[in-house]
Amino acid sequence: MGKYLYEFHWDCGRQGDVEGLFVATQEQIDNAIGKEVYFGEILGKHSEIFGELEKCDIKKLEISSEVVSEVSNHLGLTWSGYNPLHYLRYKCTKCGDEYPGEEMICIDPGNEVCDYCTEEDQAKHN
Ligand SMILES: [Zn+2]
Repeated sequence: MGKYLYEFHWDCGRQGDVEGLFVATQEQIDNAIGKEVYFGEILGKHSEIFGELEKCDIKKLEISSEVVSEVSNHLGLTWSGYNPLHYLRYKCTKCGDEYPGEEMICIDPGNEVCDYCTEEDQAKHN
């Protein structure tokens, strides 16, 4: 499935804005809408930024998935700011534990795998 560049923007009033440019598949975005994103104190002490991810918070940018793939080989999946998918919780299909997206190697719906299971797999094969 093609990966595209998405722009994330939350206006948190006086506390500031949370923004990010990140790469994802449409499927990963659809799966994330309606879920709770927990950023924590990213806008300063006691800021506690969290809330439900809504469709209007994320905008798909008009860049071809070929170009997005080429650039992400160098920049990874988060090009700037905050990647909301990293702050959602996913249930690993292998161990059944829940982890934030930044600790998941795969967040494709129905195929979520955490970093720890992947490391275990690799250790077994070596
Ligand atoms: Zn796992």
